[in-house]
Amino acid sequence: MTQRLPLLNQLLNGPEERAPSAQGCVWLVGAGPGDPELLTLKALRLIGEADVVVYDRLVSEEILALIPPTTLALDVGKTPGFHGMTQQQISQLLIDLARSGRQVVRLKGGDPFIFGRGGEEMQQLQTAGVPCHIVPGITAAIGCAAACGIPLTHRDYAQSVRFITGHGKAGRPQLTGAGWQDASQTLVFYMGLTWGAELSSQLRQHGRAADTPVAIVERGTRRDQRVLIASLATLEETLHREQPQSPALIIVGEVVSLYRAEAEPRMESMAVRN
Ligand code: SAH
Repeated sequence: MTQRLPLLNQLLNGPEERAPSAQGCVWLVGAGPGDPELLTLKALRLIGEADVVVYDRLVSEEILALIPPTTLALDVGKTPGFHGMTQQQISQLLIDLARSGRQVVRLKGGDPFIFGRGGEEMQQLQTAGVPCHIVPGITAAIGCAAACGIPLTHRDYAQSVRFITGHGKAGRPQLTGAGWQDASQTLVFYMGLTWGAELSSQLRQHGRAADTPVAIVERGTRRDQRVLIASLATLEETLHREQPQSPALIIVGEVVSLYRAEAEPRMESMAVRN
């Protein structure tokens, strides 16, 4: 990134600035949960055609490797110098790049509109009058469930599924609203690792059975995916013992009882499997 800063400056201000008539735009693109083969064809095409790719921490190495070497790739998640960029600064960068006539791909883990702040970026781009298009991606819940063989709905076990952030605006999760005790609803918590104990206790207070099965899917769809099975009663102890790392998802509900470690589906291509 540091060596790429001059290139960024050049793109934004430099002599090679495109004719003002050139219309830049931003594509908010979902990169899926990590397995590069779960990218959409559209995402793959746009990554290949973009002038600039602005990505964050959840986008996997294998997907980043698909960015052509001549394309400017900016990490707004963790690169020194860009660490701690606020949402406002990221949006402003996207606006500036588009206004300089560039085709910008804003690459986000999973789906841009599921807990990805894609909605905020879209609003800011729209307010600035910058054309913005959305490309959906496979969200972590869908990808992780498929990768470990836990159907999120099932005629015999779950009639609905709910995606929840395990990280409230002030940190601590707040399970407000109704229906938490409903045994026929699967719950999927994003960003819930640090608050596992809190989530478990709030769900039990809402009346969800303590023996409800729980799966923790760490680095789902990636080569080093790990699945831990617990119950609401043992979730805290399991998290403490196994120390799963982010990104990880917590799936709560009877469908988790369908998980079979010995028959975990594989995400490799068929050619590799033969
Ligand atoms: N927009 C993303 C979610 C961003 S919030 C999406 O649609 O998937 C970040 C959270 O997503 C992480 O804390 C984790 O809970 C979850 N997550 C993302 N990728 C994951 C993966 N490969 N395995 C498990 N959880 C993942």
